[in-house]
Amino acid sequence: MGDWSEYFEDFPEENPANWVNGTFNPQLAANIREQEQRQTKLQEKANAELHTMIAKAKQETKARSLLVVEDCPQCGLKELNTYKITESFYLCECQDCGIYGNGKTHEQALERTQEALGEGLDWREGSLY
Ligand SMILES: [Zn+2]
Repeated sequence: MGDWSEYFEDFPEENPANWVNGTFNPQLAANIREQEQRQTKLQEKANAELHTMIAKAKQETKARSLLVVEDCPQCGLKELNTYKITESFYLCECQDCGIYGNGKTHEQALERTQEALGEGLDWREGSLY
């Protein structure tokens, strides 16, 4: 058993990656791969830009919606932000330890946050908003 890449160097026509629609054409195959990679990079860039835009919009909404800052049930610091995103969507997020919880009311959001004690939540790694 030799190394496949070495084998394909000696017998390029055996390499399925060198075939395009049933024709042996390493150059065209390479071009297509390159184009696909470019496409993927463009897509990744577009996704990253979109992600940044969404993150920014969310940040602005949060800045607008900050209701109160309280003591965090987990780390004890006065870093627990509660946002009133909509009439029935309240969100608590500790700016220090990262714990979070949401609810239809401020009380419910606090309750859920308390229930999540010790679960190692961090809204920065994927929050509810
Ligand atoms: Zn905390």
